[in-house]
Amino acid sequence: MKRYECDIAVIAAGPAGLAAAITAAEKGANVIVLEKSNTTGGAANMGMGPLGVETEIQRDNLISITKEEAFRKFMDYTHWRTDARLVREYIWKSADTIKWLQDMGVEFLGAYRYFPQSEATWHIVKSESGMGPRAASAMMKVMTNRAKELGVEILLETPAKRLEKNEEGRIVGVHAVDKNGEEVYVDCCAAVIATGGFGDNPEMIKEYTQYEWGKNMFSFRIPGIVGDGIRMAWEAGAARTEMNMEVSYHTPSTIEYSCLTRVHMQPNLVVNLQGERFMNEEIMANTTFCSNALAAQKNGVAFSIIDDSIKQYFRRNGLHTVSLVNPNASARDYDKDVKLAIEKGDPYFFVADSLEELADKMGVDKENFLRTVEEYNRYCETRDELFCKNHRYMQPLVGPKFYALQICPGGYGTLGGIKINYKTEVVNADYAPIPGLYGAGTDVCSIYGDSYVFILPGNTMGFALNSGRIAGENAVSYVAGLFSEEE
Ligand SMILES: Cc1cc2nc3c(=O)[nH]c(=O)nc-3n(C[C@H](O)[C@H](O)[C@H](O)COP(=O)(O)OP(=O)(O)OC[C@H]3O[C@@H](n4cnc5c(N)ncnc54)[C@H](O)[C@@H]3O)c2cc1C
Repeated sequence: MKRYECDIAVIAAGPAGLAAAITAAEKGANVIVLEKSNTTGGAANMGMGPLGVETEIQRDNLISITKEEAFRKFMDYTHWRTDARLVREYIWKSADTIKWLQDMGVEFLGAYRYFPQSEATWHIVKSESGMGPRAASAMMKVMTNRAKELGVEILLETPAKRLEKNEEGRIVGVHAVDKNGEEVYVDCCAAVIATGGFGDNPEMIKEYTQYEWGKNMFSFRIPGIVGDGIRMAWEAGAARTEMNMEVSYHTPSTIEYSCLTRVHMQPNLVVNLQGERFMNEEIMANTTFCSNALAAQKNGVAFSIIDDSIKQYFRRNGLHTVSLVNPNASARDYDKDVKLAIEKGDPYFFVADSLEELADKMGVDKENFLRTVEEYNRYCETRDELFCKNHRYMQPLVGPKFYALQICPGGYGTLGGIKINYKTEVVNADYAPIPGLYGAGTDVCSIYGDSYVFILPGNTMGFALNSGRIAGENAVSYVAGLFSEEE
């Protein structure tokens, strides 16, 4: 068995774990990080950036959202079903965290909205690849270097397996195993768990959320993020929280033909398997709301439908809405993508010469569907009497060809599992802290109630970084307390 000794063992090197490790090391602690993967950064390597409120970047760009406003919006949105003290700690720290990242060399392109009704809190990381997915991997590189510079030892391909407690119930060690299968023991005074949830564990998704992966949930699965930290904390006596998916709707057949996807992410007519509308399609801009609405439909399935006339409109005028993840407003490649989807035999995309044929291909109730289109076309001439959709998006379906893409619930990962207090101390069912155990990031992120707070974008990465910093600070104070007790 390999043995290591440190003040604080940090389990995982995603944004939460690295933030905890750097913070603790900056305060003079001796830190070891155990990371399961062969690289650092976790899911954040896929993302674009964290939330910040009242940052210098926002000030310089006349973005006026205040901490008080952000807090109020957050709590209204979540109906106060969450730990208000923890939310407060997080939001109040977020500007300082952006500055802290800048000071270690992270650069940001600016602060952005995710969709028009959201706030410009999303601090997108500047990277060589420019604006877009994976930009935040540049931040993770800087954080990794900073941790190493401070003397933090990062043991890659060394997944943590179990926590060790002494007879007083304090955390005193972490058991792990290295890539050769050799046992590793890290002797420590405190541990921080930050293993990113259970997004790659369909069994846990089925058991602890309302979804079944591959059936009514098509979320990202980052390899190795299977709930290890949650299991370890529960075994050590931690209380459980509500567990959920960080949902965003999904077009199952996406990446290869992004133009086709973008066109069908517009507020077009959307119907469920009954052939009926079930939402004001404008809400698709808030991807969490759209995914919630989809989840309430039979099999979580719906179809976004256009015709040749709408296709021509988009080709001439560009798309109604874009996002920074999908910033291209052009629809010029739609036909090219249609051809590719047909060649591939894409099971989620349908083309038909009549509405009847389209209903058959989609497998929706034909009679209802024909009635829905007739009603929808009538509303296009007057107003949307069903859901009050903005008239600018009301475009009738007249053919001659019709196109439909299936959409369904998806997500970035999971939320919650381990109960913490606002000091990020892991607590038991009596809300009493387990001495020496801290939690950060997705494993402990149950601050959203039933719906991810997309109106303040950058939220999960923001929470990961800020809860990581809070955990690092409090773990150091705890360890200092132990040493002063000994003296
Ligand atoms: C495609 C995509 C885009 C995203 N974009 C954004 C965005 O722009 N803004 C935003 O706010 N959020 C975004 N997110 C979400 C964000 O990336 C996560 O919320 C954030 O990374 C969570 O941080 P974390 O440190 O808790 O966990 P993670 O980043 O998931 O890291 C967990 C780490 O734990 C390691 N690990 C697992 N088990 C063990 C074990 N037993 N021992 C040791 N290590 C272990 C994993 O290998 C991993 O490195 C995005 C997510 C995805 C998938």
